[in-house]
Amino acid sequence: MIDNVTVVAVTKMQRCAAIQQVYAAGYRDFGENYLSEALPKINTLKDLDCTWHYIGNIQSNKCKNLAQYFDVVQTVSSVKILQELNKWNQFFNKSQQILIQIKLLPDANKGGCSCDESIALLEMMSSLPYLRLRGFMTILPLGISEEQQYQAFLKLKNFLDECNQNYHLDMCTLSMGMSDDYQQAIKAGSNMIRLGRAIFGEHREN
Ligand SMILES: *Cc1c(COP(=O)(O)O)cnc(C)c1O
Repeated sequence: MIDNVTVVAVTKMQRCAAIQQVYAAGYRDFGENYLSEALPKINTLKDLDCTWHYIGNIQSNKCKNLAQYFDVVQTVSSVKILQELNKWNQFFNKSQQILIQIKLLPDANKGGCSCDESIALLEMMSSLPYLRLRGFMTILPLGISEEQQYQAFLKLKNFLDECNQNYHLDMCTLSMGMSDDYQQAIKAGSNMIRLGRAIFGEHREN
């Protein structure tokens, strides 16, 4: 694909054998949505040299496991979760990469905060030494036109640039684009796409 775009292979509902296959094909970033499903797979595959991204909903009682098992948490949208993740990363003496999930359109998927709401999280990062803010993640709603997808993605790209300037940050990751909208996302400046069906096909276990 395009050189400077990281592809996260979304491995929810995929067995370890399927993950090992795409690893052999060169994928090194894997995304999981459900802790109960992810932890046994991460344990089984612990010898693979890869990066695990958490891309599911977060409740505070999951933060201990998220800190312990994942390299990147992409779906943070509250101050409370940031504080919990910082606490558990300190406990494990780790440093975790964080993306803030932004909800760009009102009918978008449940998760995420607005651009305005994210400012409180940005301002907090300097007091959370065990977390490293890398950028933003978003999921667009289904059923909008390609032009609407492009405009929404572009809004987040511009917001990231503004935040870096206004708050003296060095965020560099825009995780936007899935199997159905990654082309518009890349056109708008995405450098991380999360692909499930485009890699594994429609087939999912369970
Ligand atoms: C399932 C999922 C994906 C991958 O979706 P596809 O449409 O299969 O590419 C990407 N991101 C998140 C957050 C997901 O839950």
